[in-house]
Amino acid sequence: MSTIATQLNAVLDRIEAASHAAGRAPHSVGLLAVSKTFGPEAVREAFEAGQRAFGENYIQEAVDKMAALPDLAISWHCIGPIQSNKTKLVAEHFDWVHSVDRLKIAQRLSEQRPAHLPPLQLCLQVNVDGGANKSGVAPQEALALARAVAELPRLQLRGLMAIPEPATDFVAAKHIFMRCTDLFNALNAQGLNLDTLSMGMTADLEPAIHAGATLVRVGTAIFGGRPAKTAG
Ligand SMILES: *Cc1c(COP(=O)(O)O)cnc(C)c1O
Repeated sequence: MSTIATQLNAVLDRIEAASHAAGRAPHSVGLLAVSKTFGPEAVREAFEAGQRAFGENYIQEAVDKMAALPDLAISWHCIGPIQSNKTKLVAEHFDWVHSVDRLKIAQRLSEQRPAHLPPLQLCLQVNVDGGANKSGVAPQEALALARAVAELPRLQLRGLMAIPEPATDFVAAKHIFMRCTDLFNALNAQGLNLDTLSMGMTADLEPAIHAGATLVRVGTAIFGGRPAKTAG
């Protein structure tokens, strides 16, 4: 087995163990393989090992990677910050987007989603730990944004995404993820039909699963360490 296949299986084992420990159904947590900074050959290896959903942060890098892998039936998820001038690329190339925190971006994505594609599947990014400079809608503004986004014709609002700062221990991490879960439940109680809670990464997928994550986004544990971030 390739290294990527071995590491992918180890992550699937972690997800299964955490789901079991949390008393959750075996297949209630999906895996998004975060392939940012890795080339198309790494994506192909993970695909051949059975992985179908991939997450990318840098939009142009992702579009180039997609063009290099036209034969693979991949579900591509945009998980990075989206500037207005990049919405068209996202609308035309991705299946999902997790990182929407402003109505203006959602409106552009809806307008630019090509008619021949299914609606763009969308999660709102929520700033659950309150950093002033962080991306994500404030929890108290999430209901209004969710209602407005749910009205847009070419999008399907599926859930929430959170990227909290690393916590000191399991209990603290779970506690922060629960803020997102509580908001998710509150929005559903208001009639929004959400089924996706995107939270948990390499370092904290276990507490996220205990808090109710339905999709964990894992890069390092599958593909290895990344070089320091460059502009993208
Ligand atoms: C890079 C990234 C991940 C994956 O992080 P790892 O620690 O490598 O698992 C998940 N989500 C987002 C939004 C990211 O930017």
